[in-house]
Amino acid sequence: MVVSHQKNMIDNKKMNIGINGKRLTVLGSTGSIGTQALEVAENLGCVVAALAAHSNVGLIEQQIRRFKPSLAVLFNEEAAADLRLRVKDINVKVLSGMEGLCEAAAADTDLVLNSVVGMIGLQPTLAAIEAGHNIALANKETLVAGGAIVMKAAEQQGVKIIPVDSEHSAIFQCLQGQPDKAVKKLILTASGGPFFGKTAVELENVTPREALRHPNWSMGSKITIDSATMMNKGLELIEAKWLFNVNPRNIDIVIHRESVVHSLVEFQDNSVLAQLGVPDMKIPIQYAVTYPSRFDCNVKQLDLTDWGKLTFYKPDYETFRSMDICRKAIEIGGLYPAAVNAANEAAVSLFLENRIGFMDIIRLAGEALELDLPEFSGDIRQILETDRAVRENTVAKAQQIKR
Ligand code: NDP
Ligand code: MG
Repeated sequence: MVVSHQKNMIDNKKMNIGINGKRLTVLGSTGSIGTQALEVAENLGCVVAALAAHSNVGLIEQQIRRFKPSLAVLFNEEAAADLRLRVKDINVKVLSGMEGLCEAAAADTDLVLNSVVGMIGLQPTLAAIEAGHNIALANKETLVAGGAIVMKAAEQQGVKIIPVDSEHSAIFQCLQGQPDKAVKKLILTASGGPFFGKTAVELENVTPREALRHPNWSMGSKITIDSATMMNKGLELIEAKWLFNVNPRNIDIVIHRESVVHSLVEFQDNSVLAQLGVPDMKIPIQYAVTYPSRFDCNVKQLDLTDWGKLTFYKPDYETFRSMDICRKAIEIGGLYPAAVNAANEAAVSLFLENRIGFMDIIRLAGEALELDLPEFSGDIRQILETDRAVRENTVAKAQQIKR
């Protein structure tokens, strides 16, 4: 006993050294996940290799001064030019555009954390895989739009895709040490968002401000709206299919208002494992960084008596058709998940600009299933073209909606 305890301590120490100094690239560093990831990285003593964001010059400048990466990218060219001036006293290369983003993804590092929002993250993910980097993936739209090519490329390169999304991290944790064949079902939990229990009629006139009020999580605006429409759970179903190679028919969704049980796996013998914790994204972010080890994390410990009881309900598939729209998209396969994702991304932006109603988001996403799309050949250009065309189409349709 004593010997094995001592051995564990030595192993842990070795692991600690392994994490301390681990090089991390953060794409989407100024966002909700990105800023928490940098907090985690600092706590673990990681080295930040590269940072990337869209246009938040002020925050990325602060991050550069604090974490001293050798490369920083702002997608927006003007913002990148501004950043170059602001950090000219520091030895950091500043790039812009998709080329810059892909260069950051491929730059020398031990792990690329992709937390940009939207399918814009697809090409950098592929660039990181191409460079042979393991990926901690928060950017679910990457897998929704391009799961087939991402998973194939990762397999070919021997690269690990480690989930950051809390539900998928939970499943990933429950699967450790389990034989693949023994998995019967994945059960994704969903908070139900701010509109749990509401009817479609009640939701027609919901405002962006109301939809942005999530009961349990503080996140970027796109995913917060996705949670309100339950599109987030539909996207997560597709994400789970790709990450865990499970037939979507064997992926269930259950409403769990408290967001303490992050997801579950049912095995062949009807035994069910779950992962629990306070609703704090730092836990799954850190696990993706330290996997397969565990370290102290700067989050509250779970005290179940704080909650007293945990509740579970069946989802309302009639009001929140988004879940079945995504299920249908992945069942048809090919370019349809990319199309639904594109329609949803465009519709969420339109809703946030007050140009369409809340329920129009679900309607527009659903209409993407009716498009006549070509067979998918496995070429990324087809996904990019579908994305572009469906966004354009969604904006055009939105202009005809009477408000
Ligand atoms: P935020 O909106 O808070 O942050 C998005 C980040 O992406 C920002 O850093 C933004 O930069 C950057 N970004 C946007 N467009 C580009 C671009 N074209 N090039 C480079 N960077 C870009 O989003 P979240 O952090 O909430 O979410 C990020 C991803 O993680 C999403 O896919 C989401 O679904 C997923 N996720 C998030 C969770 C959460 O708790 N927030 C939980 C689970 C998954 P800038 O600030 O300059 O605009
Ligand atoms: Mg999630």
